[in-house]
Amino acid sequence: MLDAILICDGCGSRESVGSGFCSECSHILDITYMNFFEILCIEEKFQLSEQQLRGNFIKKLQLFHPDLYCNKSIIEIERATKNSSAVSCAYSTLLNPISRACYLIELKNIPIPSESNFIMDVIEWNEKIEGSSSVLELQQLIVEVEHMLAIYKFQMEKDFRDEEYNQAAASYAKVKFFMRILDSARKKL
Ligand SMILES: [Zn+2]
Repeated sequence: MLDAILICDGCGSRESVGSGFCSECSHILDITYMNFFEILCIEEKFQLSEQQLRGNFIKKLQLFHPDLYCNKSIIEIERATKNSSAVSCAYSTLLNPISRACYLIELKNIPIPSESNFIMDVIEWNEKIEGSSSVLELQQLIVEVEHMLAIYKFQMEKDFRDEEYNQAAASYAKVKFFMRILDSARKKL
């Protein structure tokens, strides 16, 4: 949807929202019609360059900095503020691999499996945590869970690279599950 078309409320021309500005009158456009990858001009993929992401984020943040619009209309000031926060939200979502994975799966309209899809694993790992009574046992369990987490993170990255988004959603569900288990195990320490 890079070519989402908006009617510019500055001059009334039909404009592609892509750059964030009207090509006719340079009026600021509402970039929230674009997804986070489009907002930051990043290819819609899980694998990305953090350096490029950060560079594009800073450029966009400067473009929409509300201070630049203080002499403009209320609509433009409000839009600059809204665009700035969309840019920040896009950046923080895409920077973190876990939220980036979740966002990308949602963008592909793929449902994320719930834990009930692997209920036996859930029961097994919860029992392991409850059954660990000593610090040593818990520490060993944490190592085991960290290992499982690393395996599923690796698998998820591979699924994204292969553009197997249904598989990626299943791997993501496992990543979230093992993150939760790791958290409960650490809390018991
Ligand atoms: Zn215009």
